[in-house]
Amino acid sequence: MTAVEPKPAVHQETFDSLNPATDEVVGSYPVHTGEQVREAVDRAKKAGQWWASLGFDGRAERLRRWNAVLSRRMPELIDVVCRETGKPRGDAQLEIVLAIEHVAWAGKHARKVLGRKRRSAGLLLSNHTASVEYLPLGVVGVIGPWNYPVFTPMGSLTYALAAGNSVVFKPSEYTPGVGKWLVDTFAEVVPEQPVFQLITGFGATGAALVSAGVDKIAFTGSTATGKKIMAAAAETLTPVVIEAGGKDALLVDDDADVDAAADAAVWGAFSNSGQTCIGVERVYVHERVYDSFLGKVVALTEKVKPGTEYGPMTMPSQLDVVRRHIADALAKGGRALTGGKDAVGDRFVEPTVLVDVPEDSEAVREETFGPTMTVAKVKDMDEAVEKANATSYGLGSTVFSKHNGQRIAERLRSGMTSINAPFSFAGVATLPFGGVGDSGFGRIHGPEGLREFARTKAVARQRFTVPIQLTSFSRTE
Ligand code: NAD
Repeated sequence: MTAVEPKPAVHQETFDSLNPATDEVVGSYPVHTGEQVREAVDRAKKAGQWWASLGFDGRAERLRRWNAVLSRRMPELIDVVCRETGKPRGDAQLEIVLAIEHVAWAGKHARKVLGRKRRSAGLLLSNHTASVEYLPLGVVGVIGPWNYPVFTPMGSLTYALAAGNSVVFKPSEYTPGVGKWLVDTFAEVVPEQPVFQLITGFGATGAALVSAGVDKIAFTGSTATGKKIMAAAAETLTPVVIEAGGKDALLVDDDADVDAAADAAVWGAFSNSGQTCIGVERVYVHERVYDSFLGKVVALTEKVKPGTEYGPMTMPSQLDVVRRHIADALAKGGRALTGGKDAVGDRFVEPTVLVDVPEDSEAVREETFGPTMTVAKVKDMDEAVEKANATSYGLGSTVFSKHNGQRIAERLRSGMTSINAPFSFAGVATLPFGGVGDSGFGRIHGPEGLREFARTKAVARQRFTVPIQLTSFSRTE
C-alpha cells in the first residue's frame, strides 16, 4: 500500500480527505478561493453584529445547547475523528471530552471575565468615573491542525464565540470532515445567522483568510506556518495568537516516584502516537534513578499495543520525519532499547525509546511529532534544567520530584509545567494554554483565553467640572 496525501493541484476545485489507516476516501470538500473566503468574512461581519447583540447570557444559552448536542452525539463525532486521523477511539474520545469542557466553561464565565469593570480614574481625573470594557473584536479566523482536530480549534473558537465574535474556521486539509461536523452542529443551535462558518482547502485558503480583513487570527499548527502567518498578518496589523510546535522535556529527580514518572513518560510520549504538541519527546533522569526508570519505561513501552492504544501516523510526510530522526539518532551512536522500526502496515512506527543520543541530533533538537522519546542521564537537576531549556521551543514541560518540583518548574522555560503528573492538565478549561519561543505566543483557555478574543477599551466619564481643567485652553482674553 502506498501512502498518499491530499495534494493541491492547479485549479483544483475539490479535494478528498482520506482515512490514513486505509487510504480510503472519507469525503470530498471544496478548495475555497480567496474570493469565497472574503465573502465568508463579509457574511461573518454581519452575523457577528447579531451574535454580539445577544449579550453574554444569550450567547451562553446557545453554547449550553451546543454543549448538549456535542455530548449527546459524541459517538458520531468519535467516528468522524477516527476516520480522518486514524487514531484509536480512546484518543478521539479524550480530545472530545476535553473540548466539550471548553464550550461549557467559556459560555458560563464570559460575563464574569469580560463584563465591564469599574476602575479608579486616578488622582488627576478624580472628577471622573471610569471603567474597562472587553468588547467583541468582530471576526476571528481560526486555522487548525489535524492532530487534535476537535480539541485544538475548540480551545480558540469557543472562547472567541463566547466573547461575542463570529468565527470563520479553516480546519486542516486532513480533517475537513471534523470541521464540517462542528460547524453543522453549531448551526443547529444557532440557525439564524452564519456565526460560525467553515472554509476548506490547503495552505492557500488559510493564507487567504489571514488577509481577508478578519479582526484576529487564532492559529494552531507548525512553527514554520506560524511564521508565515505572522508575516502576512503584519501587512494589515492583524493581531495573531500562535500556538505552534513543541519539544517537551520530562525531568526525573532522584527523590521522584519512579513508577509514576515512567507511567507519565510513556503516556506523554506515545498517546496519539506521539502526534501531540505537548507530547514528551525528551526525558532527563537523575543518575541515581536512571537505571530503574529506564527499566520501567522499556517494560511499559513494550506493552503499548498498535491499533488499540496507538494508531498510524496521520501524515505520510510526518512518518518520514520520524524515520529520519530515529535514523539520525542511531547513526550518531544512539541505541533503540525498544522500537525503532515500522510497525504493522506502512503508516505505523513502533513506540521507540532511544538512549545515548547526542544532544545535537535531530531527535533531541527538532520536533519529532511521533512515538519516540530520548532518555538521557544527568548528574543533577541543574544539568536537567539546562538541557531541557536548550531548545528553541517552550510549550510544556513535566517534572517529577518529591521535594523540588516547584523550584524546578520555575526554572523551566515553557508556558506550562506539570509537577508529578502527566501533561494532561494542559487540556483543562480553567488554565491558560500557550508557549514561548518557537512554540508561539498568546494564551488560549481560561480567563486569559476569553480576554485574548476581546477588545480592551477604557471609558472615563466626567461627573462634574472643576475650576482647573487639565484639558482646556485658557479662555482669558
Ligand atoms: P501546519 O502548520 O502544516 O498546518 C496547520 C494549518 O495551517 C492547516 O489548516 C494548514 O492548511 C494551514 N496553513 C498552511 N499554510 C498556511 C499559510 N501559509 N497560511 C495560513 N494557513 C496555512 O500544521 P499541522 O501539520 O496541521 O499540525 C502539526 C503541528 O501543529 C505540529 O507542529 C504541532 O506541534 C502543532 N500543534 C500545536 C498545538 C499547540 O497548541 N501549540 C496544538 C496542536 C498542534
